[in-house]
Amino acid sequence: MAPKEDRLGTYSEKRDFSSTPEPGDGDAEFDWAEQRPIFVIQKHDASSLHYDFRIEVDGVLKSWAVPKGPSTDPRERRLAVPTEDHPLPYADFEGVIPEGEYGGGTVIVWDRGSYRNLKDDEAEEGEEVPSVAEQINDGHVTIWLEGEKLSGGHALIRTGSGEDARWLLVKMDDDAADARRNPTSTEPQSVKSGRTVEEVAEQEKGGASDD
Ligand code: MN
Repeated sequence: MAPKEDRLGTYSEKRDFSSTPEPGDGDAEFDWAEQRPIFVIQKHDASSLHYDFRIEVDGVLKSWAVPKGPSTDPRERRLAVPTEDHPLPYADFEGVIPEGEYGGGTVIVWDRGSYRNLKDDEAEEGEEVPSVAEQINDGHVTIWLEGEKLSGGHALIRTGSGEDARWLLVKMDDDAADARRNPTSTEPQSVKSGRTVEEVAEQEKGGASDD
């Protein structure tokens, strides 16, 4: 695997750090996470609204943009478009990215917590299981989320190949599955600040800080 600086090259190239409030690379500690690795879901009101689903893998945040956001209904398959790796400190970012900058728009921390490789849970003692990085390469990732809004098993599955490849985010059928919950509608606030994207956009117009 390429060194971390190289893997974040796309992220850095797309941003002018003198004009965006987004963080660069660096070490990160998360007092809100009981364990590592972490995951975060950022609601991003950009030219089109989406939810950025990010999981900590080997020192970076592997990322997918989910236009409809996650569902707690196992029958729902949510399109998840891979995006560039983000630096770990990005997990705490909430605020307004200026229009005209890459990804311009408002970001809130919609959910966050830690996660586990579900293959580890299922393994026999001493059995070697694929890491999450290997599962991403293989196009089939199963993880257990311990978030404030979302919990339980979630799968990221790649279908098709080449130009037709698509990733889907699917809730696995377990105790945390709930076809009626619809948390993207009923729980729109940030778990970091309690604010909605609209409130963050309004408050930061006057130059207020993001936390
Ligand atoms: Mn985004």
